[in-house]
Amino acid sequence: MFCQKCGCEAPTRHVSFHRNIGLLVMRLYEGTEGALCKPCIHKTFWAYTAVNITVGWLGMISLVLAPAFTLINVYHYLASLGLESPRPGATAPQLDDEFFAKVQPHMDYLVQRLNQREDFQRVTEDVAMRAGVSPGQVALLLHAMLAQQQA
Ligand SMILES: [Zn+2]
Repeated sequence: MFCQKCGCEAPTRHVSFHRNIGLLVMRLYEGTEGALCKPCIHKTFWAYTAVNITVGWLGMISLVLAPAFTLINVYHYLASLGLESPRPGATAPQLDDEFFAKVQPHMDYLVQRLNQREDFQRVTEDVAMRAGVSPGQVALLLHAMLAQQQA
């Protein structure tokens, strides 16, 4: 599958990171939740943790929230340490003309299987194998189709 933050095709893990900035009487919050690749987990964890530790606890509520957020972040970070790194040169999937030419003959099959409410990831991998494209490309196409349908 592919990372929901950078889009790169890589093994991912579902994580939830929280950042708090205490401004004495108010606070600023930012959260990241989703299936992320290892480099994004690493980057997000350290960026949020640095903020939580330095300015996260300035305020009454923040004094409680910042340590709690930090604990949650550490938990998710430690749990994802075993995650495999993306293979060298892994990039975000591209939907180019070559991809559409390859996947076009399999579109009916793809839609038919999704209409039967089959598992999204299984259908994606199956169609990718038949069409000779990557699962990340098929997933990206489906996300684009769903977004268009909702608009
Ligand atoms: Zn990523």
